[in-house]
Amino acid sequence: MYEHDVLIIGAGLAGLRAAVESVRLGVDTAVLTKVHPVRSHSNAAQGGINAALTDRGDEWEGHAYDTIKGSDYLADQDSVEVMVREAGDTLIELEHMGVIFSRDEEGRLGTRAFGGQREARTFFVGAITGSAMLHVLHEQIMRNDVRIYEEWFVTSLIVEDGVCRGAVAMDMRTGEMETIRAKAVIMAAGGAGRVFEPSTNALICTGDGLALAWDAGASLMDMEMVQYHPTTLAGNGILLSEAARGEGAYLINADGDRFMENYAPEFMELASRDVVSRAEQIEINEGRGINGNVLLDLRHLGTKFIEEKLGYLQEVAVEFRGIDLGESPIEIRPGMHYIMGGIKTTIDGATVIPGLYAAGECANVSVHGANRLGANSLLDTIVFGKRSAIAAAEYVKTVGRNGSSDSQLESDKKRIQEILDRPQGIRWAAMRNELAESLTEGIGVFRDQASMEGADAKVDELRGKYPQVSVDNKGKVFNTDLIFALELDFMLDVAKSICQGALMRKESRGAHSRTDLPDRDDENWLKHTHVYKDPDGLGGVRTETSDVTITKWEPIERAY
Ligand SMILES: Cc1cc2nc3c(=O)[nH]c(=O)nc-3n(C[C@H](O)[C@H](O)[C@H](O)COP(=O)(O)OP(=O)(O)OC[C@H]3O[C@@H](n4cnc5c(N)ncnc54)[C@H](O)[C@@H]3O)c2cc1C
Repeated sequence: MYEHDVLIIGAGLAGLRAAVESVRLGVDTAVLTKVHPVRSHSNAAQGGINAALTDRGDEWEGHAYDTIKGSDYLADQDSVEVMVREAGDTLIELEHMGVIFSRDEEGRLGTRAFGGQREARTFFVGAITGSAMLHVLHEQIMRNDVRIYEEWFVTSLIVEDGVCRGAVAMDMRTGEMETIRAKAVIMAAGGAGRVFEPSTNALICTGDGLALAWDAGASLMDMEMVQYHPTTLAGNGILLSEAARGEGAYLINADGDRFMENYAPEFMELASRDVVSRAEQIEINEGRGINGNVLLDLRHLGTKFIEEKLGYLQEVAVEFRGIDLGESPIEIRPGMHYIMGGIKTTIDGATVIPGLYAAGECANVSVHGANRLGANSLLDTIVFGKRSAIAAAEYVKTVGRNGSSDSQLESDKKRIQEILDRPQGIRWAAMRNELAESLTEGIGVFRDQASMEGADAKVDELRGKYPQVSVDNKGKVFNTDLIFALELDFMLDVAKSICQGALMRKESRGAHSRTDLPDRDDENWLKHTHVYKDPDGLGGVRTETSDVTITKWEPIERAY
């Protein structure tokens, strides 16, 4: 058994930022991650991070308003205020740690325009913003005394008398299971993109943190809010960053028309992501697409500019489509990208379970509401990663000695042994695809009662069959076959919470766009949805709603 004051699950930007703060506060801190820290999905973020810097005449109020409008008024406005007010200092602090942000012509920190915002307030490091931030934070924890459990896989949280006291995890190199006790746990295990197929997310984004916290009794809030990014490659879902449109790319249909004129005459291609994705889907559905896609057109920017400013996009175009973006447009379509919903937390990262905190994409502090603005997620991870560590450090001072029971360890060992012992049954890969495809079908850019019920029924059917899932590899060392089977268990839970959240919300708002109920209904649905796992263990759920916090921005009709 291992023991720490604070155990952070996840070594993406949220987890590493929390770790840096935790050691700064003198707390005995451990970070546990299923992949090497710099392989976390945060590494893939290209576009940038938002902040309103006053030295260029931008104000936090503008950033707050754009975020709240972008959220279709579902974000809690007190949370948004915290995030945008802290953004400037957050950015400078990152720069001081060693993140060298790109400069403008005058040598100041440079910005680019991103969707849904009236100011260009997105700061970036070439096309490797997430990677640069992640490497710098990794360096920071390497030079401090943080225990890193690298390539360890969490299978359960330990909850005793309603209080979170650590986790059970597998050392993937040996296959051994261990109890890691902690006075506080910070869940920073990232998103759940792979519950959909295709997705822009890495294969490791299987919603483990969401499912672990849900199983422990936490509320998953606004899970129906799934972001479809407007520009992903058909087939494999690879992301073509919003930076393309930020730098001036057009969206055109089969007739060569810039169709955003009809949907968002003011913001055009840089309207909010939900608005642009819906516009594309309508063009496709009404027969103005090409092979089920529309086109991203950069020709007017010229090859030289594209290679200088958007080199990565050019690489993707050449590698995957064999085209030069300076000469021909590229086929794109809306693709699953981000989950706005997550483990409900306060602005200090606290969940309803004492001792359990959450930050980053798995958390829902409610800064993104029904639609996240591009480049607000990196900001969310850093601001709330830090805040959750501060709160956890305070909390651990109040907690006495931890327990010593190994009962969770024993039950996890037994569960895993059963999977290993099972003779040839259902293959996880087949079930994983079936699940993800039915979620994309049922909880898509557009959805209705029947499509959501269909997805929900499919999740139940697959849950019923999960006890037949078997693995071919019965070994102990790096048994990724087994890990994938365990991830599928988490994915089924996350999928259930998404379907149930979606079925609850009887209106259209942001990313939740119902063709059978097309209007926003502030009177009845200016509310968060909460889905809890039913404690009877029979696969049921308990649901409730709560009010949205409005401070100064009254909901008005949203137009771009
Ligand atoms: C392609 C792409 C581009 C993006 N671009 C941008 C952008 O430009 N700007 C922006 O603001 N946002 C962007 N986003 C969103 C943003 O990158 C993510 O929301 C954010 O980085 C998530 O950070 P995180 O720390 O919460 O999680 P992650 O970085 O996903 O890290 C999760 C961590 O949890 C660990 N983990 C998970 N499950 C377990 C388990 N069972 N046991 C042990 N460890 C576990 C993993 O090992 C990993 O270390 C992008 C996302 C994608 C997919």
